[in-house]
Amino acid sequence: MQEIYLDHAATTPVHPEVLKAMLPYYQDVHGNPSSMHRYGQRTRHAVDEARIIIARSLNAEPGEIIFTSGGTEADNMALVGIMEANQAKGKHLITSQIEHHAVLHTCERLESLGYEVTYLPVDETGRVAVEDVEQAIRPETVLISIMFGNNEVGTLQHVGKIGKLAQEKGVYFHTDAVQAFGIEEVDVKRLHIDLLSVSAHKINGPKGIGALYVRRGIKIAPHLYGGNQEKKRRAGTENVPGIAGFARAAELAMETRKERRDHYKMLRSTMLDVWNKQGVDYVINGHPELYMPHVLNVSFPGMKTDAMLMHLDLAGIAAASGSACTSGSLEISHVLRAMNLPEQRLESAIRFSFGYGNTEEQAREAAERIGHILMRSNDKR
Ligand SMILES: *Cc1c(COP(=O)(O)O)cnc(C)c1O
Repeated sequence: MQEIYLDHAATTPVHPEVLKAMLPYYQDVHGNPSSMHRYGQRTRHAVDEARIIIARSLNAEPGEIIFTSGGTEADNMALVGIMEANQAKGKHLITSQIEHHAVLHTCERLESLGYEVTYLPVDETGRVAVEDVEQAIRPETVLISIMFGNNEVGTLQHVGKIGKLAQEKGVYFHTDAVQAFGIEEVDVKRLHIDLLSVSAHKINGPKGIGALYVRRGIKIAPHLYGGNQEKKRRAGTENVPGIAGFARAAELAMETRKERRDHYKMLRSTMLDVWNKQGVDYVINGHPELYMPHVLNVSFPGMKTDAMLMHLDLAGIAAASGSACTSGSLEISHVLRAMNLPEQRLESAIRFSFGYGNTEEQAREAAERIGHILMRSNDKR
């Protein structure tokens, strides 16, 4: 049985070209970028080049990029760094109920330190209303953090409008673009973004490397203390192989973004076509138009998520509930919960996510296997 990986929103395989770009930095080119000698100069050059590439992919300047250990660290650094540096203005920040836990749990930490957080609701498609953001802004509001595209349901937010609003009100705007980067056009200037998080392992890069974009002139409190790396804001010897791999992954993602979008749309409609032909009962969760094409979240009423995931694994298909699995028992996703969906839809949601290596054949095969799983369980009832 051919295994089919449809969980690219969780993580992606490393592209062969990315691995190739990384290997020299595990072998001969091993100097510390902070060293004066030529070994150091070589890795310093690699880090500088990578920074230029990552900056270009966001329409930012190289000096605005801070390398981190991934999306989680970038989110932590953005929120804590900005709030800490702006205590004189106030201690209030605005976010949404559907953020990744890297943002939500950082907000909880900030609350325990005496900061105040407004968690904005979403509609049934998973969207935050711009008017709600506007109404939540107070004189003491320092930061708005609203994600670019949701990792569980794929819904895109009004990033440009929220960015513009934040700019007009003199509030900083951070967006977690980890899932959108490489899929959507992420232009920090056009969208008025002050801070933005990205991660390599969601775009066929290595795990454990990411970046935070911080617009020039914005002060953030240091996140790690030590050497002078990353302009003293994130100390520690750079992950040179990771940084080189991240840059190559970003290059490939930019070059192929449009074709991949079309490819994912095709994979998506291939699966839906199979289910329509088989008469499968399904509902799509998310926004009907404004979504990232690599994420397909569907509910199969009557088939509980954990049971389905077990059947899928037996059928060789890797998918996800889109929610955190706590000691084996599945919790209802906070994202779907915030979307106020009927209980039956919450209990039966599955996220399929497409990426490098997925073919039309795989999409058809996966959908057929899923259809058979559902038919068998209907027969039993
Ligand atoms: C994966 C993900 C993260 C976390 O990134 P890591 O690099 O795994 O720490 C944060 N936000 C979103 C939206 C994600 O999909």
